[in-house]
Amino acid sequence: MKAKVQVVLCKCCTEVPALLSMERLQKLAAESNNVVSVVTVDAACDGRNLAPAINEAREKEIDRAVVFACHKKDISPSIVKAYKRAGVNEFLVELVNMREEVVLPHLNEPERAQAKAETKMKAALTRSIMLTPLEKRTEEMKTRNVVIIGAGVAGQAAAHEASKAGVHTILLEKTGKSVKAPGIIMTHAQLIGASGYGGNLQLKIKAGEKLEDLGAAAVVIATGGGWTTLKGPLAKTVKDAVPLYKFYEQMQTGSVPKGPVIVVDTPDPAGKTMKVQDYAWDDTLETTIELKNKHPEIQIFVIFQEMRAFGLSELSYKVAAELGIKFVRYDKAGAPKVDPKNPGVLVVKDFAQGELLTIKFGTLVFASIPPNEDNKAIAEALRIPMTIDGATRRGSIQRWPVSTPRPGVFVCGSALFPKSRDVAKAEGAAAGAMAGEFVKRGKIEFGGIVAVVTQEKCSACLTCVRTCPYEAPFIGTASKAEIWIQACQGCGMCVGICPSKAIELHNYTDDQISEEARVLLGGDF
Ligand code: SF4
Ligand code: SF4
Repeated sequence: MKAKVQVVLCKCCTEVPALLSMERLQKLAAESNNVVSVVTVDAACDGRNLAPAINEAREKEIDRAVVFACHKKDISPSIVKAYKRAGVNEFLVELVNMREEVVLPHLNEPERAQAKAETKMKAALTRSIMLTPLEKRTEEMKTRNVVIIGAGVAGQAAAHEASKAGVHTILLEKTGKSVKAPGIIMTHAQLIGASGYGGNLQLKIKAGEKLEDLGAAAVVIATGGGWTTLKGPLAKTVKDAVPLYKFYEQMQTGSVPKGPVIVVDTPDPAGKTMKVQDYAWDDTLETTIELKNKHPEIQIFVIFQEMRAFGLSELSYKVAAELGIKFVRYDKAGAPKVDPKNPGVLVVKDFAQGELLTIKFGTLVFASIPPNEDNKAIAEALRIPMTIDGATRRGSIQRWPVSTPRPGVFVCGSALFPKSRDVAKAEGAAAGAMAGEFVKRGKIEFGGIVAVVTQEKCSACLTCVRTCPYEAPFIGTASKAEIWIQACQGCGMCVGICPSKAIELHNYTDDQISEEARVLLGGDF
């Protein structure tokens, strides 16, 4: 049966038409083989905008779609769901990131952008025709356990929220601290290994001296930040320096800091692995303003490499400046150092003025903190990626801010990057709610774009078994590789590395990739 394709062109509000000729793109789409419907929408990420396209897809009984919009991670679930409701197989919906791959890189080159957009359209339509419909299957979850790693403010909030979905929560706390939260609380407990996949995970837990196996349907990582492990030259030199959260807590008890107070972004100003994020910026402003209001006599300096307060917190700069708080910006070449001859003096080069400043201080505060040192072992056990800063990597910030790229594994609070208590609590609640909803379904979906082995070509060399980050390939009873498709995430690493070319990824076969590449390379850019 001849394929019937719908093309959706998203204006991404105004950005796309400001650079590209939508008329030329519409014409090219309409004149292409198999295209029976071309619809232009204002914002494909808005269901109301997409509705006319979906209605037309139903009327014209299209069986596949190519949507030109923005990043797949941000728009794909809602678009795919909408097409599924119209009876289109979800694996026949192709998304092209026109905004970030065409518009943004060529803002000052409209002709080049148009040529690239047209080439990408031809390539995407070529690929669309070659796609095959795929099915997903389901498997029952064997447990309703949600295991939460870390019983701090985020972990406790996650347990409270997950329990509302009727699941069993198990909190793992590394220390012996007593915690009030629903479900079981295992103290002196750490995750040391995991196998399986989201929905049916088997965790290995070290609880005190004992090793225990624990089934889990979902995991929430709520490890917190590396509060207790301040490292870096400034922390080494100024032994009584404090992290911002602790400084704030001390202020709340009525203690008056010794002035002048310096808040510096990181204990390692020349380091590469520390990241100062919104927590540090916003909370630095709030804390210093509160301190200045309470104790106007204390001199306060804020010394940052860059500072970008979040949203309306921007207004706090003005308030802080009017109160007399001094801001000093530096770059790595002029990073702050403690004067070796005078340990109570910080030397920093003011980037704006080019002047070398010497600032006497009574209290040194670090706004940023290192990541939790347990993150690496947890990421390895659960086979999830980390950021360059040593934090857990999340999915899409817009769509899945508390999810990881691995289904069934969620993350919140300072396991992502340093957060204030309020934000950590809110994120913990969100991650707990998502884990609860995930487990409440009782089933996992798997299949679709997964690897498949042609066993006649397999030489059982084990390369794929050793390479797969999700432990999906194994040597089966026929002494050939097989793929445990519940675990396969469709990353394609085994496909590229198999020396016998025995593995293919559904809908990313050599033929499909070569044909798309041929059209791309033959086109204009
Ligand atoms: S890498 Fe290829 S040849 Fe080696 S075991 Fe896996 S499928 Fe077989
Ligand atoms: S595509 Fe291959 S390497 Fe990637 S998850 Fe699946 S089996 Fe593992």
